Amino acid sequence: MRAVVFERYGEPAAVREVPDPRPAEHGVVVRVEATGLCRSDWHGWMGHDRDITLPHVPGHELAGVVEEVGARVTGWRPGDRVTVPFVCGCGSCPSCAAGDHQVCERQTQPGFTHWGSFAQYVALDHADVNLVAVPDDLSYATAASLGCRFATAFRAVVQQGRVAAGEWVAVHGCGGVGLSAVMIAAASGARVVAVDVSPRALELARAFGAAQCVDGTATPDTAAAVRELTGGGAHLSLDALGSPATCAASAAGLRRRGRHVQVGLLPSADGTTPVPMARVIALELEILGSHGMAAHTYPPMLEAVRSGALRPDLLVTSTITLDAVPDALAAMGTAPGAGVTVIEPWS
Ligand SMILES: [Zn+2]
Ligand SMILES: [Zn+2]
Repeated sequence: MRAVVFERYGEPAAVREVPDPRPAEHGVVVRVEATGLCRSDWHGWMGHDRDITLPHVPGHELAGVVEEVGARVTGWRPGDRVTVPFVCGCGSCPSCAAGDHQVCERQTQPGFTHWGSFAQYVALDHADVNLVAVPDDLSYATAASLGCRFATAFRAVVQQGRVAAGEWVAVHGCGGVGLSAVMIAAASGARVVAVDVSPRALELARAFGAAQCVDGTATPDTAAAVRELTGGGAHLSLDALGSPATCAASAAGLRRRGRHVQVGLLPSADGTTPVPMARVIALELEILGSHGMAAHTYPPMLEAVRSGALRPDLLVTSTITLDAVPDALAAMGTAPGAGVTVIEPWS
């Protein structure tokens, strides 16, 4: 099969022929019809993820067709349209037993713990636990976004962030996951303040329901701007980019008893980032993390997509081929672009 491979961190990836994957006993091989390009892929390529061993094939937000199933898989067969959370649970550890597959103790992540979906085929483990059926009327390009950015944003806003109608929600960083969060928070009845340094990203945020926008280039103290626009601070705030500056601004833009959810991965390998804990104590802030979303919690999100309340299809702003991935991957570091890029490996 053809795949995007890198041999060294930070050096250009290449598209070349590699052996087809085989399914584990409990796993499947999926023919990749669409796969999203995500800033996490750039982190992996830069060497920020300790799970990766070289040479490596990135790619973790995918949708496609089951091609081959392992001997112990009971729920899926070749031809099924599927997607998968980027965190795949083992199905048997205490976290999985509690339903928290997104923090599984023996998790696998395509494109990180093993070769991913910037390829024509990808192997996925524990298929009966992790695969999600893609409805016939949902395109592969749209379904691909559900595995990472859209599901992660949904969990951050709805499950971890506990958004309520009428609340102010600040979203720092309006790339793919941030724009998804803007759309989900607005659809939940919240008033959204979008923060970014790109006019194009803010334009999209407004189109997806942001009531207010803060341009970080014109307004360097974005936290103060959020506090002013929201009459004292956001109830819920997300760092959807993942940087010490956006993390700090998100926490500083909260009102009393506000909730910060860290969504964007932080650049350092250990993710150590200063958080103003004095403010956390004095204002009784909550600092939360969000790490994907378990497959069994997809139904309310899929129902909102089916009804048209959520429109992940609108987030897809460009489609590229595998051959364009090496350059697009490198560009994620400096110019992530606005909206979502989807790769179609067979085009
Ligand atoms: Zn992702
Ligand atoms: Zn587990």
